[in-house]
Amino acid sequence: MTRNEAITIILNSTIEDLSKEEREEILIDWWGIDQNHPGFDNLPKTLKSEILHFDEPQRDAMDEVYNVLLFVALRKKYLGVRNEYLSKRVSVLLHSNQEVEGVQEELYSCPCCEFKTLPIKGEYEICLVCFWEDDGNTYLNYYSSPNHMTLAHARENFVEYGAVNETSLQFLQSDRLEMFCK
Ligand SMILES: [Zn+2]
Repeated sequence: MTRNEAITIILNSTIEDLSKEEREEILIDWWGIDQNHPGFDNLPKTLKSEILHFDEPQRDAMDEVYNVLLFVALRKKYLGVRNEYLSKRVSVLLHSNQEVEGVQEELYSCPCCEFKTLPIKGEYEICLVCFWEDDGNTYLNYYSSPNHMTLAHARENFVEYGAVNETSLQFLQSDRLEMFCK
């Protein structure tokens, strides 16, 4: 199957499993979605209008109308993810052996963990492997304000905890090392 088909299956299952609190958090985070974002066009008319007219969601977070926005939000996490990883996830979900094919999007290496996780450089994207925020700095001993530490310190922490610090682990997927290439 294609990457897109696999990601759709994975995301539909992920969205089904989200708690109300998790849904709320993502919706609030994504409520300010740019009208030029390619995902905005795919939203149902009623949802587009709700986003444009209100500062926050007006219905219960469990309302299915929000699933499309959750999908757009979570879709971003699968950019450049390895086909092997997608195959494994989708095979478990479908209880059958599936092979995912297609071109993986090229990503840039994270200055901290060196996994290829960044769609763009120096634009404050957060690495999905180590949680480093890419402020464009690559000097080891320069204090990075968004990360509240130096790159050298973050690298040490990555070796010790698997993330820039222990508290970031809660925001990262446990199988993230399998998701991306080095
Ligand atoms: Zn990283």
